[in-house]
Amino acid sequence: MTKEILVLGAGMVGVCTALALRQRGHAVVLVDRQAPGRETSYGNAGIIQREAVQPYAFPREWMAVLRVITRQGNDVHYHPRALASLLPTLARYWRESAPARYAGTVTAYSALIRHCLTEHERLLTLAGAQDLVSRSGWLQGYRRNLPFEQAARNATEVARLHGLDCRILDSAGLAATEPALHGSMAGAIYWRDPWTIADPGELVSRYATYFENAGGTIRRGDATTLKQTGTGWTVATDDGPLTAAHAVIALGPWAPALTRPLGYRFPLFVKRGYHRHYAADPMPKLPLLDAENGLMLAPMKRGLRLTTGAEFAHHEAPATPVQLLRAERYASELVRLGEPVEATPWLGARPCVADMRPIVGRAPRHPGLWFNFGHAHQGFTLGPATARLLAELIDEEVPYIDALPYDPIRFGG
Ligand SMILES: Cc1cc2nc3c(=O)[nH]c(=O)nc-3n(C[C@H](O)[C@H](O)[C@H](O)COP(=O)(O)OP(=O)(O)OC[C@H]3O[C@@H](n4cnc5c(N)ncnc54)[C@H](O)[C@@H]3O)c2cc1C
Repeated sequence: MTKEILVLGAGMVGVCTALALRQRGHAVVLVDRQAPGRETSYGNAGIIQREAVQPYAFPREWMAVLRVITRQGNDVHYHPRALASLLPTLARYWRESAPARYAGTVTAYSALIRHCLTEHERLLTLAGAQDLVSRSGWLQGYRRNLPFEQAARNATEVARLHGLDCRILDSAGLAATEPALHGSMAGAIYWRDPWTIADPGELVSRYATYFENAGGTIRRGDATTLKQTGTGWTVATDDGPLTAAHAVIALGPWAPALTRPLGYRFPLFVKRGYHRHYAADPMPKLPLLDAENGLMLAPMKRGLRLTTGAEFAHHEAPATPVQLLRAERYASELVRLGEPVEATPWLGARPCVADMRPIVGRAPRHPGLWFNFGHAHQGFTLGPATARLLAELIDEEVPYIDALPYDPIRFGG
C-alpha cells in the first residue's frame, strides 16, 4: 500500500532513505533547508569504508585518555568549556567501549557495514554516478615502526575475521604504491576493499536527482516546524505546509533539535571535524591517513582535501581549526602541498551515539514517526544500508539484517 512519507534532512542518510522509500512505491517528499548534500555529507573524506567493521571506541587505556586530556597529539581536540555538559554522554561512551559491550557492538556493526558496497553500487549505477567512484582502497600510514607493527598485527587479524582484503606495506612498498609521497613513513596498511568518491557532496546530489527522476519531490523547509496532527505529521515549507501519515527524522547532527522537544533523551554528541583543499603536485592517487597525527589526505576534484580527527565541542560553537593548522604542517612533510583552495576551512560535525550504533527505527512514543540518524564516522558509507533497513521496517517486512541493535527502544520507551 502506498504511504505518504516526509523525510526530513537531505544528507546522505536522508536522500538514501527517501530514495529507498520511493523505490518501494511510496509518495515521498524530502525536506531540507538547503540543497541536498551540503552539510556533513559534503565535507567528509569520501571513503565508503567497507573495512570499518569496528566503530571508533573511546580509548580504554589510561595513557591514551591522559594523552587526550593533556591535548598531546592532533587526533583529538576539545573545548574545555563544553566538557561539563558533555561529560555524562562521554562517560556512557566510555562504558559502552568496555571490551564485552564493545564486542557486541562490533558484531552488530560488522553485519551492517558488510552491505555498504553492494547498497551503494545499486545507487551509483541508477544515478549515473560511476564517474565519481574509484575502487582502489586507501592507506592507513604510520611514521614510527612500533605503532606500525602493532597496527599491522591488528589489521591482519581484523581482515582475517571479517574476510577483508588488506596488505601490509613496508616503507618501500608504500613509496611504490603511492609515488606522490616524498616524506618517508614506516609503512601502511593498504585496505583494498573500500571505495573512494571524488566529490562526496556531488554524489549525494546525484542520488537526489535520481530520487526526483524516480517521482520523488524535494522541498525547502525548516524541519523544526514539524508537528503532530490528528492523522500524522505536518511541516512548513517554502511552498506551504505539507502533511503525511509518516515522517522520518534524518537530520544527522541536528536530530536533537527535533527529538529533544519530543521528549527523547538519546545519548547524542558530535565529533566536529575540519577540512580544506590544497593544490598538490604531484597529486596522491589514494587517500592516506597519517594515523599518528590524526589527519587524512584525500585526493578530490577540488584538490587534496585534508580532513581532521575529532573535536569535542558544542555543535554550533565557533570554529577553532587548530587541528587543521597542524595538519597542514604534517601533510607538507609527506607531500608537496601547494596553496589552499578556499579562504577558510570547512567545519562539520559527525553525529555520534554513545553506544556507537546509529538510531534506526520506529519512534517509541509517536505513531508514524521514524528515526534514521547518528551514523558518526561512517554515515557516508552507511546511508544506503540503513535506508534499506528503515524502509523494510516501515513496510513491516523482515529486515535484511537484525534491526534490534539499532532500534531507538534501546534507550527506553
Ligand atoms: C571530517 C569528516 C570526515 C568524514 N569522513 C567520512 C568518510 O570518509 N566516510 C564516511 O562514511 N563518513 C565520514 N564522515 C561522517 C559522515 O560525513 C557523516 O556520518 C554523514 O555525512 C552524516 O550524514 P547525515 O545525512 O546523517 O547528516 P548531514 O549530511 O549533516 O545531513 C543532515 C541534513 O539535515 C539538514 N537540516 C538540518 N537542520 C535542518 C532543519 N532545521 N530543517 C531542514 N533541514 C535541516 C541539513 O541541511 C543537512 O542537509 C566524516 C565526517 C567528517 C566531519
